[in-house]
Amino acid sequence: MVDTINVRSEKTHTASSASQGTITPHTRPSNCLPSFVRSIMSSVVEISDEPGQPPALSALSLAQTSKDSKAKEQVITPFDVSGGVDEQGKPVAIDYDKLIDRFGSQRIDKAILARFERLTGKPPHRLLRRGMVFSHRDLNLVLDKYEKGVPFFLYTGRGPSSNSMHVGHTIPFEFTKYLQDAFDVPLVIMLTDDEKFLHSPKLSLQECRRFALENALDIIAVGFDVKKTFIFADTEFIYSDHGAAFGFNILEMAKKTTNNQIKGTFGFNDTNNIGEFAFPAIQSATSFASSFPFIFGHNTKAVNKIPCLIPCAIDQDPYFRQCRDNAPRLGLMKPALIHTVFLPSLRGSESKMSASDTDSSIFLNDTDNQIKKKVGKAFSGGQDTREEHERLGGRTAVDVPFQYLTFFLEDDERLEHIRQQYESGKMQSGEMKATAIKELQAYVAAFRERRKAVTPEIREEFMRPRQLIFKSMPLVEEQ
Ligand code: ATP
Repeated sequence: MVDTINVRSEKTHTASSASQGTITPHTRPSNCLPSFVRSIMSSVVEISDEPGQPPALSALSLAQTSKDSKAKEQVITPFDVSGGVDEQGKPVAIDYDKLIDRFGSQRIDKAILARFERLTGKPPHRLLRRGMVFSHRDLNLVLDKYEKGVPFFLYTGRGPSSNSMHVGHTIPFEFTKYLQDAFDVPLVIMLTDDEKFLHSPKLSLQECRRFALENALDIIAVGFDVKKTFIFADTEFIYSDHGAAFGFNILEMAKKTTNNQIKGTFGFNDTNNIGEFAFPAIQSATSFASSFPFIFGHNTKAVNKIPCLIPCAIDQDPYFRQCRDNAPRLGLMKPALIHTVFLPSLRGSESKMSASDTDSSIFLNDTDNQIKKKVGKAFSGGQDTREEHERLGGRTAVDVPFQYLTFFLEDDERLEHIRQQYESGKMQSGEMKATAIKELQAYVAAFRERRKAVTPEIREEFMRPRQLIFKSMPLVEEQ
């Protein structure tokens, strides 16, 4: 039994406090998350049994204290996402409130929502106002600077593990597009084909490279502005002439990163390959504007003052906790983060939709019929019989079709109406599924249309190292 969540890398969150947090079942309710997120939270004892992973001290003590229990800790790493199981062996939903406490990040609260509204002049994006964007690190520092005219840049990415992306991947990308449009800032998107190759027992380098190029088409179809966006695949960019500054930052970061840090953060052991140990330095180096002189200019001193904001799902946080530990030792700024929750697997909210698990996912190239079949089989919070459902009502907190509606249905009033109808038993699970199917079919159809318009030539332009155009840039030189 091994704990693969490790919280030791952010200096503010010590190993001992993390260990204590691990062995204490979590009972504190969240007040800042919306009811549907709050209600999927439950109290679990945290253990996991990842093969080939070294036990963290906290997990060893936990394993000893809970010998007779079937409980398994929730595991949230870049490589594994699971809500764990309770003492009876029943899968439990991911507890995001607990993650905030354990990872040591900050909650997105009402004050931040108000600040977004004030700065952008628009109501917050539905993912923000419904609590799916739920946590951050140093977001306020980035916004403070932005208010004083200091620009920031956005950095997000994708590990190309499949030909087509799934609808879950569009969550951080759609939110990133909103940030790009709202703040008029440049964006770099990293395709970590090297990471997927190093971590996958099955995928060849050629396959990962092909997936990267295919996924770039999907990403562009989310709607990014070519004038403000640079997309790169690691296997190409790092070894190109334009990648030299990035390569230097990778080496600087690699020199500051010890094997102990990597083992502590990711749970690797001596059977992991050396590429896996080295990769976090690559993912970190993208956080520094000086890695991209063709975008930000060659005045390294000024460029290094441009803050980086990383929108991603919370599983990517360990990479950046480690980056934030090491950046000041290089005289560089810590990147800020803004975290989303996961779009749940078709099987239930105890795990995320994942491209590596095809039965859990609705892919962006699925047909209307495939979507219908998949959502038809999705985990339902309906009761066993029609009578019982009318008497007890449906459970929106665990109902996957309803949860999909919370991510994709724009209309707040309609969503609330559906919730009330379902919970009161007036709406049956068949109708809930039909509603989600229609919404997802429309979402994917709109994506399909945009994707058709993305040609290899357009992709080439997005992936060409070049100056990006955005209005806040001139201020950098004045600093
Ligand atoms: P997969 O196994 O599906 O390829 P992954 O974790 O490898 O999943 P990445 O390509 O590494 O996916 O992730 C790209 C971005 O999408 C990251 O910010 C990641 O956190 C996010 N992401 C992945 N799956 C989901 C999901 N189900 N819901 C929301 N965001 C997700």
